[in-house]
Amino acid sequence: MAEADGTGNLTAGVIAALREARSVFVLTGSGISAESGLPTFRGVGGLWRTHRVEELASPDGFARDPVLVWTWYNERKAAHERAQPNAGHFAIAQLEDALDDFTLATQNVDSLHLRAGSRKVLELHGSLREARCSNCNAGRPLGAAGLPLDEIDHACGGRWRPDIVWFGESLPQDVWQRAREAAARADVILVVGTSAVVYPAAALATNYNRGAFVAEINPEATPISDRVACTLRGSAAEVLPQIVEALSRDETASPDLSVRPRG
Ligand SMILES: [Zn+2]
Repeated sequence: MAEADGTGNLTAGVIAALREARSVFVLTGSGISAESGLPTFRGVGGLWRTHRVEELASPDGFARDPVLVWTWYNERKAAHERAQPNAGHFAIAQLEDALDDFTLATQNVDSLHLRAGSRKVLELHGSLREARCSNCNAGRPLGAAGLPLDEIDHACGGRWRPDIVWFGESLPQDVWQRAREAAARADVILVVGTSAVVYPAAALATNYNRGAFVAEINPEATPISDRVACTLRGSAAEVLPQIVEALSRDETASPDLSVRPRG
């Protein structure tokens, strides 16, 4: 943990950079949702500890045991429904409101950014709002309890699967392209709550832009910590509202970051 003074000085650097920025890119990972009580992907406990994640989140695992895979995703879906967005999610939505060129890309599939009021979210790994057919690509919305286990078969002969990018699959091309372009043109990149080890999404943090001011917001050191301009050792829910608050306090700052109630 950084000393209070150190964090303050570092935060000032980020604020100065944001104040000058014409374009901001934010990448979030499971750390921001952990603060809403959702376990990180590999931090799952209970019964599921006996399963390798590849059994639960891969095309092969799904082909072998679709009921097992849907049981796991239905539990996760129910947890997403119970969880509430936290101050970190809300702060990011305020940044979007205040900045003309702002892009949020997330590795999370829990929809918490949307529920916090972010409007344009590039969901790199898909979402659990929908199932889609592995054969004909039809979609169907998922209710709070997920997919009934006796409805896995689709009339076309295929199977409904979560609309999630699994191990061994490619990211959706249009989403990936837009995220890459936003990362490349950004003046400031915030890397929030991601260990920055899941490629290719993690490449957005440092690989496409040599000129941006990159700040990492994470309670722990990550593989990119020594390559970024600024590392804020704290949680998203602690650090991001401080940044938004400081930006809104400064009268010379052009963005209007005043706190507004959200629906
Ligand atoms: Zn189908």
